[in-house]
Amino acid sequence: LFDQVPAVPPDGTFALVEAYRADDHHLKVNLTPGIYRDENAKPWVLPSVKQARAALLADQSLNHDILPQLGHTQFLSAARQLAFKDTLDGRFVTSIQTISGTGANHFIASLLASHLHPKAVWIPDPTWDNHQGIWRHVDPGIERRTYPYYDENTFGIDGDALLSTLREQANPGDAIILHACAHNPTGVDPSPELWEGIAQVCEEKGLFPIFDLAYQGFATGDVDNDAWAVRHFTTRSSGNNNNNNTPLEFAVAQSFSKSFGLYSERVGALHVVARTRDGAAKVDGVLKRISRAEITSMPAFGARIVAAVLHDPVLEAQWRQDLKTMSGRLASMRKRLYEELVRRGTPGRWGHVLTDIGMFSMTGLSPEKVAAIKDRFHVYLLPNGRLSFTGLTEGNVEYVAESIYQIVVH
Ligand code: PLP
Repeated sequence: LFDQVPAVPPDGTFALVEAYRADDHHLKVNLTPGIYRDENAKPWVLPSVKQARAALLADQSLNHDILPQLGHTQFLSAARQLAFKDTLDGRFVTSIQTISGTGANHFIASLLASHLHPKAVWIPDPTWDNHQGIWRHVDPGIERRTYPYYDENTFGIDGDALLSTLREQANPGDAIILHACAHNPTGVDPSPELWEGIAQVCEEKGLFPIFDLAYQGFATGDVDNDAWAVRHFTTRSSGNNNNNNTPLEFAVAQSFSKSFGLYSERVGALHVVARTRDGAAKVDGVLKRISRAEITSMPAFGARIVAAVLHDPVLEAQWRQDLKTMSGRLASMRKRLYEELVRRGTPGRWGHVLTDIGMFSMTGLSPEKVAAIKDRFHVYLLPNGRLSFTGLTEGNVEYVAESIYQIVVH
């Protein structure tokens, strides 16, 4: 029976992690994962999370009852506040807990595919690999189109190409995925002017924006700055925007993997911003039905931790500090790699390593060079040349810079 099932190649990212594990070279460096590591390249439990977790574990009254259908109530209110703060006046929002950011992306794809039938979903080029995978899995009949995003020559965004492609080729009802901040894999985000242009195209063409909010706090170290684009879309579309377009309806797929270091707990939320109360109520019903059929009820532990941190002013202050610790370490590693590359006279332009934001930068190394740096130096990058600063430390940054130098010149 199963002989007829197609052979599926292994997932590239997971395969690289396995290859790294199996590599016994003493200088090996893993620069592939979007998972924060501390100054010793070890997993880091945020101090705020540690405190909240300890209090939860000490609470003898804690039980394991099933959560409400939409998820952990205090978690959801905190998640919504984190994404939108006080920009929701006059909007109707449905929020549901999800299996992390992946689950939030999956739920919105399922909702749109089953009820609104977009002809296409527009995905930035490049993007997080799983955007293609999730939409292919949910409905292979929906075209997965890419819009130009990154310009390899300038290490920036090709805003004109992005806007004109959508203006000329997108159809009303199409969905569009937007990285809310700290774009994966490029580390380059739209300027406020470009965000405004994107919002206008979405309104003019009747597109449905999906914000993927996976790195709040990692772009600037400040959760409010990092939610600027989401909140701009909310206020633009609340009728205060002095334009005659119909207010946008959109979604936010929110992950707490990175911002709370809760990768294995799978904590996320999906928020759908609707124009009417009736619309929001209907979304509520459909999302509950999807959730019931797929999961029945969300896991509680990670959501309890997030709720405990965000509902306690002392823990929340500690958490904001934790975000600064993480984003600060990444920024200092950017500086160190830049210095070491420039000190060696490494051919190429490296200034963007300093100005890119979040966990990642594109090195510009070809897939062949990426394979070569792995084989010769045991330094692991993604095949598209993405380098994750999470794996860099004071102990390996010179070795990594030297490896890049050697690979570029030979
Ligand atoms: N969206 C983007 C852009 C990501 O990079 C990731 C993880 O790498 C996710 C969503 C989802 O992550 P998770 O499912 O762990 O929340």
